[in-house]
Amino acid sequence: MKLQVIGDPVLHSKSPAIHTAMLGALGLDVPYTARVVRRGELSQYLIWARENGVTGFNATMPHKEDLIPLLDEVDPAAQTVGAVNTVCLRDGRWMGFNTDGAGAVAALQDGLGLDPAGRTVTLLGAGGAARAVALALSQAGTERVYVCNRTAARAEELCARDPSGRLTPAAFDGATLRKCAARSQLLMNCTNLGMEGCPSQFENFSFLDALPPGAAVFDLIYHPNQTELLAQAKRRGLKTLNGLPMLVWQAVLALERFLNRPLDRPAMAVAAAKVLAPSGQ
Ligand code: NAP
Repeated sequence: MKLQVIGDPVLHSKSPAIHTAMLGALGLDVPYTARVVRRGELSQYLIWARENGVTGFNATMPHKEDLIPLLDEVDPAAQTVGAVNTVCLRDGRWMGFNTDGAGAVAALQDGLGLDPAGRTVTLLGAGGAARAVALALSQAGTERVYVCNRTAARAEELCARDPSGRLTPAAFDGATLRKCAARSQLLMNCTNLGMEGCPSQFENFSFLDALPPGAAVFDLIYHPNQTELLAQAKRRGLKTLNGLPMLVWQAVLALERFLNRPLDRPAMAVAAAKVLAPSGQ
């Protein structure tokens, strides 16, 4: 058995360290390595992987969507999201899953003690991560998710994927963000704003003032460890969570898929989080 993460770029990925830590905690000597696979090279990679004993891999940029038509089977949740991040070889068949959304929901529960069922959420962004998270929030029974995005058509397209009617597209201007925030117990940033290397930043943070007392702010970004959004939320006494717990939990759920058996999830999350502690970064 061999496991990999593929992408381009991928050599910066924390997945090898996280999975190696979890496999070590299970007493399994399974190699997990990073491999650069460029756009357009997926079909050759699937052949190479099969011939070289790779029985599972994670996929990152730019492959999450392109993989779908190349796999033998895709889990219904991943099909709805339109992206896979975890692929396993089972009985000679490539099967695709997406653990990003469930990883975010698990991170919410673990990191903030927040069950999204019955809650109203303001979700910023409508890209790949936002799609996985919004659909997982809907499946977890949220009352409503306002999907606020700069490009209105993308927010509308995302919400149309969810048959439950719980997702509502919204604009990204200050007035709309404040209106949505006032009704929400949780605000999630699924945009690139505040990420290291992203030249743009939120124009202002007044939407945070509209959140009710006791609300939480979850930023999917983990580079930097604390974004300006989280710093501003903390200053206002709001609960905060960065993207590291989601990174950990999507990996725990991926490892369950690779090994095809349930794991002691909290123990795996502890093993994975250790390698992401400040000294391990
Ligand atoms: P993506 O598909 O490229 O989507 C980017 C989103 O950001 C889009 O909604 C885009 O809006 C919005 N955006 C970009 N620049 C903007 C600006 N100047 N003003 C307003 N909106 C802007 O990226 P992604 O894969 O979804 O990733 C989004 C973030 O999530 C990244 O920071 C990534 O690191 C993080 N992430 C974290 C984890 C984790 O495990 N913690 C997992 C996945 C992703 P438009 O539609 O208008 O372009």
